Parts: sequence; structure tokens; C-alpha cells
Amino acid sequence: MTFVKALRCRECGQEYETTAKYVCEFCFGPLEIVYDYDRIKLNLTHEIIQKRSLDIWRYRELLPVEGEEYISLQEGFTSLIRANRLGKALGIKNLYLKNDCENPTHSFKDRVVSVAATKSKELGFTTLACASTGNLGNAVSAYGARAGMQVYVFIPSNLEKGKIVGSLVYDPHLIGVEGNYDEVNRLCSEIAGKYKWAFVNINVRPYYAEGSKTLAFEIIEQLGWKIPDQVVIPVASGSLLTKVWKGTKEFIKVNLAENHPMKVFAAQAQGCSPVTTAFLSKTDTFRPVKPNTIAKSLAIGNPADGYYALKAISESGGGAEMATDQEIIEGIKLLAKTEGVFTETAGGVTIACLQKLLKAGKLNPDLTTVALITGTGLKTQEVLFDSLKPISIIQANLESFESKKLASIENY
Ligand SMILES: *Cc1c(COP(=O)(O)O)cnc(C)c1O
Ligand SMILES: [Zn+2]
Repeated sequence: MTFVKALRCRECGQEYETTAKYVCEFCFGPLEIVYDYDRIKLNLTHEIIQKRSLDIWRYRELLPVEGEEYISLQEGFTSLIRANRLGKALGIKNLYLKNDCENPTHSFKDRVVSVAATKSKELGFTTLACASTGNLGNAVSAYGARAGMQVYVFIPSNLEKGKIVGSLVYDPHLIGVEGNYDEVNRLCSEIAGKYKWAFVNINVRPYYAEGSKTLAFEIIEQLGWKIPDQVVIPVASGSLLTKVWKGTKEFIKVNLAENHPMKVFAAQAQGCSPVTTAFLSKTDTFRPVKPNTIAKSLAIGNPADGYYALKAISESGGGAEMATDQEIIEGIKLLAKTEGVFTETAGGVTIACLQKLLKAGKLNPDLTTVALITGTGLKTQEVLFDSLKPISIIQANLESFESKKLASIENY
């Protein structure tokens, strides 16, 4: 049973059957899934959702698949944790972290790939592929393995070791392209035109992108079916931000949450900030940039959903911010030492931007605020090597320990 009605062009409204189609034949606009919200409203309640397994599929009526044979590793339903100590450090009262490091391949990409892999199998594909800045490749490799599909992952050849190993271990065809993500993506679009593969973020993109809505669904459910006042979201292609906004509106539409204003804030790295720059200069025309930042998972200079992300930010009355590489590192360390959460560079971008938005008075420190921590720091360890204090080496005896003055007398 499915509640999906069609694929619809986001620009001209033309509708299509739900196949592996992603651009409009008439205006080249991107396609998106349309659901039968009236029927979902009659079929989906808080009680029904709460009885289901703790993964993204508890919201299956709002996801674009037909059957119930999910390619799943129990992604989603990650912790929403109160961040009192970080909040105190930043001067904000009701701060929460949505900790997507807890996902099976340790980033939020497991949500989108679970949906994309499930749909790709339904559509009869036997090869799963993607253009990736790292985390997506990890998720496609893992879910492709689980689905028993052939896997092709294309990445910029200079990615972090943790992201390379995080794909290779699942034994995909991993192809490092000499170029940045935008060049990788252009190549993959050509390959997708020629080979009958499911590129999760190209020809299956309308389905893939829907997986990100589950972040919004979960946050609302975990807040007691209440929509937060403010969310800070790291932006690469702009898909995650766009879908968090869409998912929130859908929950209102199907009576799972009461209407409540929510401001959406974009967080980008200064070395790759096309969305933030366009927002701050009050334009909706993008200037693609050549990325130069340690936040490689966000290094998309020509964001496919940038335009829609900008629209969502404006519609919500939110804002946008950017962080330097140094601020990103400080953000990672501040989050770790105040809350015990070790995030990758993208999470550092979120925390640094949260801090700057608060300082600039753009975020209200009294309102319920959620920061999305989208991936784990274990995959981007190299950025910290020069900024952590060295470990203390001692001999295995008390004298050596005490001679180094590592403990003060109060510790006895
Ligand atoms: C991909 C990614 C994002 C941003 O996703 P988009 O949907 O492309 O904007 C954010 N954080 C992490 C860790 C990612 O891997
Ligand atoms: Zn169209």
C-alpha cells in the first residue's frame, strides 16, 4: 500500500509516473514526490507510529516506496539530547542536539540511502551508485551490500582516510576522481545517462531526498509532537534543509503536529558558502564556487537544491551563517568537551554557526532550538591532529606519575 500519487515538477507542476525520472521533460525543473495527504491523515496517528520499530520506517506512509521490504539497518530514531552545558557556554537556554552520528554508517546519509536503495530495488535496478563527498559513499556501500546489489561509488580522490575506509570495507567499486565534487557529479550525470544504474542522488534523487524528512519527523515526535522554534542545519546540496522544512509542513498537513512557526538556519563553511552568500546578499541567483575548506562533506560549490533551500530559509523567516576552518575546529572541540559528542567537520560548522547566529542576535536564546549533528568525528580525525594537546607518557610506576605533576593534591 502506498500513499504516493505521482512525481511532480517543482516548477511547472507537470506530473509523471513514479519511475526513475528526475527532471521535467518540459521545463527541466526537478521532480518531487506528491502524496495523498487526505488519505494519510485518515490512516496515520501518533498511536500507530509509536507502536512501530524505532527507525525511519515508522513514518512509512510519508516515504515514497510501494512495498514493505525495506533495505534497512535500523537507521534513524537517533537521540535528541538536551545540551545544557553547551547551551550555557553559548548563552542559550533550550538547546537540543539531534545526534545522527548514531546511524549505522555514522551519518544522516543512512536515512536517504535506505529509502533510495529500497526504491531502487522496487524499480528493478541491480546496481546502486552515487557521486559522494564521503558519507553518502559509505551509506551506499553498506546498504548496497545489504541489498546484494552491485555498488559504484564516485568520490573526489582527496577525501579523508576515514571516509575512504568507511566505503572500501563493504567492497564497492570505489572510484576516486581527480577533481572536486561538482566535477564528480557532472561525470556521474553522464554515466547515469548511459548505464542502467540507480544513482541515488541523480536519477533516484526525488525518492532519496525524501529520507531527510525523517529528521524533522523524529525531532517533532521526540519533543512531544511539538515543532521546535529554531533549527540549525548544515548545507551541502541543500537537500537536507529543504526536506526538513517540507517534512515539518507535512506533519502539520496530516494533523501529526500543530501549526507552529519554525525558523530554519543554514550553516556552511566559509570556504564553500554559495547558499549563505546568496542569502546574505539577498539574491536567489547562485554563483557556483570552487570549494576550499576542511568541511569536505559540505564541499558542494554548485548546490542542486540551493535555490529551494534559500526559499525555505526565507519562507521560515530564518537565516544563514558561515564558519572559517578554525571556527569549525573550535566548534568540534567545544561540542566534545561540553556534551561528550564527537562530530565531524560538518557538525563543527553547525556549532560554529549556531554560536555566530546567537552572537549576532539572529537566533533567539530563549526559544527551543535544535542543532543537527549529522556525522561522526571518527571519520575526519586528521583535522584535529594539530590542535589537540599531546598525551602524557609516563613509566608504569607511581613515582613517574607524580613527578609529572599530572594530578593536584585535591585529587587524592
Ligand atoms: C551530505 C551531508 C550534509 C548535507 O547534505 P545536503 O542534503 O547535501 O545539503 C550534512 N552533513 C553531513 C555530515 C553530510 O554528509
Ligand atoms: Zn516542469
